[in-house]
Amino acid sequence: MDTKASYVCGSCGGPSEARIQGSTQGVYCTQCDWAVVTTYFSEIKRDSALYEIMISGGDHRDQRQVKAVSEILGVNFLAARMLLGPSSGPVFKGRATEIFGVRKALVEASIPHEIVPHFKY
Ligand SMILES: [Zn+2]
Repeated sequence: MDTKASYVCGSCGGPSEARIQGSTQGVYCTQCDWAVVTTYFSEIKRDSALYEIMISGGDHRDQRQVKAVSEILGVNFLAARMLLGPSSGPVFKGRATEIFGVRKALVEASIPHEIVPHFKY
């Protein structure tokens, strides 16, 4: 397969380059705004494993963490406080694509957490 063929702009015929931008990857023309964007999640979408997220080492007295967990998991403050407690079980179960979003939000909110089984994305 001639990979160069896919790096020619489909609009102006100019040179294009493959780039990853945020959560998408695609081929972008260097001369105009033409782009073919493909999802970066092709592998993750095929992953049918069920993952669990555990919050470990969260601080249930930290209002910021309680608020973040409440927003991320869609639970009220009381439930969020319990989820941040020391003996919380899994706080979220889902497929890889769902886990990806929740994990991102937890990382941004600096909530310590673990994912089982190992989440490689
Ligand atoms: Zn172009």
